[in-house]
Amino acid sequence: MTAALETTKSVDLGPAVELVSKEEGHRQPLAPEFVSPEDFSPLEVAYDFGKVRREDIESGPRNIWRYKKLLPVPSNVEETPNTEPGCTRLVRADRLAKALGVKRIWVKDDTGNPTHSFKDRVVAVALAAAREFGFDTLACPSTGNLANAVAAAAARAGWQSVVLIPSSLERAKILTTAVYDGSLIAVDGNYDDVNRLATQLASEHESWAFVNVNVRPYYSEGSKTLAFEVAEQLGWRRPEQIVVPIASGSQLTKVDKGFRELGQLGLVDESPYKIFGAQATGCSPVSTAFRNGHDVVQPVKPDTIARSLAIGNPADGPYVLDTVNRTGGAIEDVSDEEVVEGIRLLARTEGIFTETAGGVTVATAKKLIEAGKLDPDAETVLLITGDGLKTLDAVEGKIGPKATVPPSADAVRKVLGY
Ligand SMILES: *Cc1c(COP(=O)(O)O)cnc(C)c1O
Repeated sequence: MTAALETTKSVDLGPAVELVSKEEGHRQPLAPEFVSPEDFSPLEVAYDFGKVRREDIESGPRNIWRYKKLLPVPSNVEETPNTEPGCTRLVRADRLAKALGVKRIWVKDDTGNPTHSFKDRVVAVALAAAREFGFDTLACPSTGNLANAVAAAAARAGWQSVVLIPSSLERAKILTTAVYDGSLIAVDGNYDDVNRLATQLASEHESWAFVNVNVRPYYSEGSKTLAFEVAEQLGWRRPEQIVVPIASGSQLTKVDKGFRELGQLGLVDESPYKIFGAQATGCSPVSTAFRNGHDVVQPVKPDTIARSLAIGNPADGPYVLDTVNRTGGAIEDVSDEEVVEGIRLLARTEGIFTETAGGVTVATAKKLIEAGKLDPDAETVLLITGDGLKTLDAVEGKIGPKATVPPSADAVRKVLGY
């Protein structure tokens, strides 16, 4: 009997050493699992970072792999095919700040990712981990952007993909997923139905890596790169306030984790920061719980144009409440009309066209400023997580040409009043 037969293949996920349950801290080896069998709470990646210097990061590639020493990915991750997201621009938004009556706002413009949303970040990390675990199919239930990111990443890696979406999804998000030619399946049901179906399939198909189900602990770590980039782009410091849209709540909790890790590693000063959450009123379970001072989240049936955020039963809801309360932030929600006005305000002031989720973030920031919850004198970052071209139906019929005229200069002058 040899030792090799008894030991399972050990995985190389860089600095990641084990999984830890969020509630009671039970430890277990790195594996494609997402719930602790001990306390049934979500599993999270634990690390042994060792020494990480700013120079290690600054000399890295211009994508999220510059932070590979802070992520659960193999040390040679950049050598395998992936969509190389990240290093999107951080825009100083003075005209938006003026319109909102605050001193300084930065817009983190994640429309610049390969499939035009922040989901490319989480999928790239999930794919790297899934490859190490020996999977060959990338799968997900999605509210839209994840579908794009999974189908594209699988195509680039030469993997199969299985993508499940609610059949009511925006046309653009369906077409921009279907084009990658994986298995796209529209389900008659809402996202929470699709998610339940995915959880069932994940337990039946052992070779499928459902990025946000069975490899969720790795997937969710990808959102930390938003915090890392913002801090690096600000000259290695944390912003005082940041506004983050909430769907499952994963992104918000991991932006906080990213800022904390940078502080713990001495890569930034331990300056205080507040995290604010943004939801659409038509799907605002976390905002409602925050307002009522609850620490659990009551599921809702979503009804909003912000479909990418339409998760009625958010997995990380209670952890979002913890994070926002601990940092001294707040959570608000805005109507669909305010979402459209948010989209138009950002476009008009900064030349950035965001999807409905970005409209939620901008409109929520406005509401928080008006309510005195966001400090107008503190520096604020808005996470703009997706591209307006994917949700054209939100602005359809509300904007358009000033006039349609014959090809005559006079007609144009007349319209413009010259
Ligand atoms: C998925 C998504 C989010 C939020 O995701 P979480 O599930 O809360 O991590 C935010 N913005 C856009 C555009 C998204 O697609």
